[in-house]
Amino acid sequence: MSTLFDLNGRTALVTGSTRGIGLALAEGLAQAGARVILNGTRAEAVEHAVAALNARLPELLRASGRANGRTIDRALGVAFDVTDEAAVSAAFAGWDREGIHVDILVNNAGIQFRQPLVDLQLADWRRVIDTNLTAAFIVGREAARRMIARGAGGKIINIGSLTSEAARATVGAYTAAKGGIKMLTRAMSAEWAAHDIQANAIGPGYILTDMNAPLVADESFDTWVKNSNPARRWGKPEELVGTAVYLASAASSYVNGQIIYVDGGWLAVL
Ligand code: NDP
Repeated sequence: MSTLFDLNGRTALVTGSTRGIGLALAEGLAQAGARVILNGTRAEAVEHAVAALNARLPELLRASGRANGRTIDRALGVAFDVTDEAAVSAAFAGWDREGIHVDILVNNAGIQFRQPLVDLQLADWRRVIDTNLTAAFIVGREAARRMIARGAGGKIINIGSLTSEAARATVGAYTAAKGGIKMLTRAMSAEWAAHDIQANAIGPGYILTDMNAPLVADESFDTWVKNSNPARRWGKPEELVGTAVYLASAASSYVNGQIIYVDGGWLAVL
């Protein structure tokens, strides 16, 4: 088996991974050989996701040909709010004590909030910016400090959006945050690439997750999504896995500051 995309021996923290895109990415990274750490704000949901993933791990690794009698690194989980600087620091300090090094960070936790800008309350603007943008800085900083100190490089994958590139009415704060993610990824590259840390981003198109359940149920929105991208359908969370494994692996060792859109071709067409 080629080692180019092999994540064996690596530990990956995926924020916001109790469901949706984060959970699919964590599963995909685990299947590529990484030990994964799941996260969300609710301890019960984290425990449940960890138990379910650990139950599936042997089968996932067998399917990818990675079981081969080796000890399987069980998934771990820690509940914390990614916007809470003290809680993020405490989580990393806990891993330091246990000798756990985060080699791969996926800044995935995010929220959506729909409101025209003229009606948007400052508290809601701040909540969306904090969760979707500031948290990537807070968690990224903790991870990068340790990666730099260890001198063994690392991988940071920030989750952007189509709104990293193009605006859409009623999601102004989210658009500003995801546009910020694109530039934060470049800022991370500017400072951390020399430490063999590759910071890149993924910009998913419209993906079938809980976040979009109301949009799927809205017939006109559903039709708009299907008519607006050349693939003529919503994306599935697992369709982001290949790009994530690539950006988490040695295969992307000279790729820095990029955002890869996985959107069925949406941004490529008029
Ligand atoms: P979901 O709402 O399905 O899942 C969000 C996850 O993030 C949950 O695990 C949630 O756990 C966690 N989370 C939310 N807030 C926090 C927080 N403050 N701290 C820690 N964890 C948190 O979202 P998706 O899977 O759809 O989206 C994941 C990412 O992908 C987001 O960044 C989103 O903006 C982005 N994205 C999604 C697209 C889509 O079409 N779905 C398109 C483009 C980008 P809990 O509720 O327990 O806290």
